[in-house]
Amino acid sequence: MKTSEIRQKFLDYFAGKGHEVVASSSLVPHGDPTLMFTNAGMVPFKHVFLGNESRPYVTATSSQKCVRAGGKHNDLENVGHTARHHTFFEMLGNFSFGDYFKHDAIRYAWEFLTIEMKLDPNLLFVTVFEEDDEAYDIWTKEIGIPVDKIARIGAKDNFWSMGDTGPCGPCSEIFFDHGADVWGGPPGTPEEDGDRFVEIWNLVFMQYNRNEEGELTPLPKPSVDTGMGLERITAVMQGVHNNYDIDLFKNLIAAACRETGIQFGDNAEQDVSLRVLADHLRSVAFLLADGVLPSNEGRGFVLRRILRRACRHGRLLGNEEAFIYKLVDALVTEMGSHFVELREAQANIEQVIRIEEERFIKTLDKGLKLVEQAAAEAGEGGVIPGKTLFTLYDTFGFPTDLTADILKGTNIGLDMDGFEICMQEQRTRARAAWGGSGEASLPKALFELREKHGPTEFLGYTTINAEGVIT
Ligand code: ATP
Ligand code: MG
Ligand code: MG
Ligand code: MG
Repeated sequence: MKTSEIRQKFLDYFAGKGHEVVASSSLVPHGDPTLMFTNAGMVPFKHVFLGNESRPYVTATSSQKCVRAGGKHNDLENVGHTARHHTFFEMLGNFSFGDYFKHDAIRYAWEFLTIEMKLDPNLLFVTVFEEDDEAYDIWTKEIGIPVDKIARIGAKDNFWSMGDTGPCGPCSEIFFDHGADVWGGPPGTPEEDGDRFVEIWNLVFMQYNRNEEGELTPLPKPSVDTGMGLERITAVMQGVHNNYDIDLFKNLIAAACRETGIQFGDNAEQDVSLRVLADHLRSVAFLLADGVLPSNEGRGFVLRRILRRACRHGRLLGNEEAFIYKLVDALVTEMGSHFVELREAQANIEQVIRIEEERFIKTLDKGLKLVEQAAAEAGEGGVIPGKTLFTLYDTFGFPTDLTADILKGTNIGLDMDGFEICMQEQRTRARAAWGGSGEASLPKALFELREKHGPTEFLGYTTINAEGVIT
């Protein structure tokens, strides 16, 4: 089954259970300035859960575009290093807004995995929140999960909250065992960070409201929010142990191989670069399709940083010229029929990526040399001075996370405090420069007006009162 078929199967299954099929929302969350990017399937439904917004349905299903590359959830550093993390991924979800609760949520998930997807129940492993006896009993007594395949886990991983206050509740996570030849252990063991037991589905039971004092009171209408990574379930279904080996990624990596002349599988480090390229291509292209543009702050800066990291991996693979923009076509082939915004914006996406690449390539080699020099000077256990980090950023366009990424695996630190001081100094300089040059660059006609009529006097402070009324 191809990735796109699995997405469809999921949506069809829940549509068959009466869920409204809802199209993915934008990666830029609407009306939520606190959130950098949409990072879970529930984000577009946040106000429905909070009871501020009503919809003509009480249950829904979606495959939501997500980016986890900034803010609370940041998987950027994991990409290329784990088998299961992307910066951009799709989260399949089913939602109940005060309709069904734990019984059905668990039953649907189990039925979808073991009957629809025909997964071997022996390869599934479950966790519940340590105090959630109700979920534990449903799994063990109704579903019949053996007690050695279920674990009670603490609040860090198994208690979810929307924020410091508001809806919250216990989770139950479903893991797939990729087999003893993959390193890792089940949740709750010291080896849980491995890729053997991979979390495929997270069921959140919104059961309480937390007030300012931190007290929990039961919600009158408990709700359900679930999330399953499309790429993770696809890896399971395609019998591969790494998300980057599924059909969709294989085709993106093949495109990257064509453009770089590298063979996948020849060299482990190059394979990492190819995977990172495929991952970052998706984030960059989908963010552009949703209207984010490269910039030096906010969302646009995250986009720029991801793209620059990708450029560096292209350089590691030997490419001296812009080429990432040429991979967009392969992405549109893979995902453009489901996500029409990608197809519609293709030409723009390619153009912006190309301009960004061409600009950055001009300073990339010099910047890399400076990092190399600075690393040699610092030596193992040493620190790259803030001033150098600032030069890398300001002159060569190296965001500090790119420098950190290059130095990953070494024992060399970054003087981030020193960097911040340099940034602050630059801001102060910029402000000072602005005051002076504004005056000096006044167009001639304005100077003439001033000569003729004298300077205007700003009266707003004295003639407008606190209510904004002219007195
Ligand atoms: P993990 O512990 O593996 O990092 P998570 O607990 O952070 O996952 P959730 O926030 O519970 O993930 O998201 C729900 C589901 O979305 C996960 O069970 C997983 O299948 C998928 N998912 C989460 N993060 C990623 C990612 N970076 N790349 C791909 N899939 C992801
Ligand atoms: Mg995570
Ligand atoms: Mg987890
Ligand atoms: Mg989880």
